Amino acid sequence: MANLLFAGNWKMNGIGKSLNEVAELAANEVKPGVKVLICPPATLIWRMADALGESSIEVGGQNCHDKPSGAYTGEVSAQMLSDAGATHVILGHSERRQYYGESDSSVREKVAAAWSANLIAIVCIGETEEQRLEGETLAVVESQMARGIPDGADSKNLVVAYEPVWAIGTGKTPALAQVAEVHEFIRNYCKSRFGRMEGNCIKLLYGGSMKPSNSCEILGIENVDGGLIGGASLKASDLLAIISSSQ
Ligand code: PEP
Repeated sequence: MANLLFAGNWKMNGIGKSLNEVAELAANEVKPGVKVLICPPATLIWRMADALGESSIEVGGQNCHDKPSGAYTGEVSAQMLSDAGATHVILGHSERRQYYGESDSSVREKVAAAWSANLIAIVCIGETEEQRLEGETLAVVESQMARGIPDGADSKNLVVAYEPVWAIGTGKTPALAQVAEVHEFIRNYCKSRFGRMEGNCIKLLYGGSMKPSNSCEILGIENVDGGLIGGASLKASDLLAIISSSQ
């Protein structure tokens, strides 16, 4: 498998001394074709990008506003993330949807803002436990993509992260066949909406309690092009173990 992306979502974790973890990551060679991205809190983006210097590890944001600037106290724009050294931004994470009322339409506007600032948008989609039990998973992810991703997506501006809400931070993961089914569905959606070639190349990440003990199996599934990793990305040794578990 080549061209994998491992994106660490530090959430609201990390202060200056946490940059040591990134220094440890940078000191380790990763396999050719593997890209590593760390999305720290906004306060660390500039420092992390600066500390990484010539390293191939990239830095991303966890959210952005849909306007480039203005009277929006407490907000950070895509342009600001880019100016601070970010190359990517996570959008529509289920914690943003759950705690801050983000909807698919606000995600769509943020994706457009990210593209205007030349950031790659990592759009998170995924069903709740209730929706899975009701058999609604595929309909939910289709509707999140249809409403949350603007036209014009391609493999250079979009990454899709399938993150079952019930698997995030819980230690639970779906059965491998469930991950395979959803990823195949997302791949087919991308091909039919964005064109066969681009749809085939858009990276599809799995996210939700990925850790060194389960990553090899998950990363072996067709159409899984890497991981969006929360808890296990906070320690360089765990993230490196996940990366080296990929085939
Ligand atoms: C996430 O926050 O996107 C995530 C996948 O978290 P965790 O790995 O901790 O489940």
